[in-house]
This record gives sequence, C-alpha cells and structure tokens, in this order.
Amino acid sequence: MGEGICGRFAPSPSGRMHMGNLWSCLLSWLAARSAGGRIVLRLEDLDPERCRPEYCGQVMRDLEWLGLEWDGEPVYQSRRTGASERAFRTLEEKGLVYPCFCTRAERLAASAPHRSDGEAVYTGRCAQLAPARREELMAVRRPAWRVRVPQETVRVHDLIQGEYSQQLKRECGDFILRRSDGVYAYQLAVVVDDAWMGVTEVVRGSDLLSSTPRQLWLQRQLGLPHPVYGHVPLLLAPDGRRLAKRDRDLELGRLQREYTAPELVGALAYAANLIDRPQAITPQELLPLFSWEKLPREDLVWRL
Ligand code: GLU
Repeated sequence: MGEGICGRFAPSPSGRMHMGNLWSCLLSWLAARSAGGRIVLRLEDLDPERCRPEYCGQVMRDLEWLGLEWDGEPVYQSRRTGASERAFRTLEEKGLVYPCFCTRAERLAASAPHRSDGEAVYTGRCAQLAPARREELMAVRRPAWRVRVPQETVRVHDLIQGEYSQQLKRECGDFILRRSDGVYAYQLAVVVDDAWMGVTEVVRGSDLLSSTPRQLWLQRQLGLPHPVYGHVPLLLAPDGRRLAKRDRDLELGRLQREYTAPELVGALAYAANLIDRPQAITPQELLPLFSWEKLPREDLVWRL
C-alpha cells in the first residue's frame, strides 16, 4: 500500500515559518509517510520581491528541527523557469494565451465580483483588443499574460473538504500565467513542478482550495497527471485572524526558545485530533495514529 504515493512540502521562503506552515507540513508528512510514501521539498522562491535566499536554509533547518525529513534534493522553483516557459509556450500554441495591459488600478476599478483570494474576477477586457491596438500597446507597455478559461465547471474531490467546484469563467476569470515583470505565476509553476517532481498527493492549507480548479484545468491542458488533494483547515490567531508571517509570537524562532520540537508537534497533533491531550511526541511516533477521518474540517484557533 502507498508505495506510489509522493507528497510534498512547498514552502515560500519569504520569512521565518510560522505555526500555520508547520501545521500543513506536518500533516503532509504524516499523510505520505503513514501510507509508506515519499515526500519531496520544493522551495517556492519565484517572487524576487518576497523571497530571500537566506530564508531557504532557514526553512530547511526548521523542518529538520521539527523532525520532518524529506526525500532527495530540495528543488528551488526559481531554477526551473525553463519548464514553466515550455508549458507557457504549449498553452500559447493552443491559442489560449493573450497579453493583458490592464494596470492594477484598472483591475480594481472594474466592478467585477471578487474571488475568495481578494482579486477581482477578470472581465476579459484585453481578450477583446483588436490586433492593431494590441500591437500599439505592446510597443509601449510590458504586458502580463493571461490564459483564456472556458465556461466550464471544474470539480475537485478533496480528501478533507469533500466536493468543491468552480465555474472557471464566472468565478475565477482568465488568470495570469506570467506577470509583467516576467515572473511565472504560482498557478503555472505549481502544476509544472508538481508533475516534474512526481507529486501524487498535495496536502496544503484550505486557503488554496479555490486555486485547485485552475490547477486541475491547467494539468489537463498540459497533459499532466492530477494529484489527489487534501486541504487542511487553517490555524487562526487567537483573535480569529489568519496566521501570517508578521505574527511574530507564532513564528518558529520565538517558539523554539520556549518549547521543544516534540512539544510543538504534540500541540499540532492535538489540534489535528490525532492525540487526546497535548503531550510531547515526535512525528515518527504519530505515524500509526494518522488518519484522514480524524482531521478537523473547520478552521481552528491556535492555542498553546
Ligand atoms: N508556497 C505556498 C505557500 O507557502 C504553498 C503552495 C502549495 O502548497 O501549492 O503558501
């Protein structure tokens, strides 16, 4: 059982890890390892404005400190832009890609409904540009590149959240594949790299559930296999907000001064309903206790 399973850690090295990142990493590790599978590490360092090389080493030390080891060499997403470029060309050859000259202010001003990630559903304005106008604009502005999505409902069968679906055109809109600064978008890079790394099981925060229909659709366009998905509920700060890297008190550097790794793992395992009371425990000891059915479905407030 499970030999073919390959899970992954995909942290963004944009700061020190916080409990929310560790929570999804622990659950990814347990899901893969408890089924006898592999787990690989990819550092999602595509955005040069947010990610710093020194955080990559820190992320790896933090995972090791917690007892979450991975298989093989870490993959740096920023070194794989050639693969995203090829996927981009494939979509372009299918006639699905067009340049978008809208500024952020123009996108925000459009009275379109907003997606759950806060972005406005793109109206498709630049898809309508006449070729001559497009040429004119190309000469003066560097466009972002969008993919044209169909009016199709994409269904996700999530291991934790159950059925989820999205009508791509209406609820998501044509989305960006490459930003105007040339950086490939997360949505494209993630499907290209998950496939290349042989990932079969994606466990991550439920804030990414609404990205999954886009990713399933891209996989289909590119002829890539579909992993299975399990979106874990989010850990919330005591005041009910989502944990963010700026929540200094829940950042690992601070917690490491007060708690041992087994204490933190135990607190996370208790929140995941894998043990009956908070107690110090290692990831290895949790392996026989993991099951998808035990995991909570609702977001939970993190207390230690
Ligand atoms: N790099 C993303 C993050 O740290 C995760 C992306 C994913 O799991 O698909 O939030």
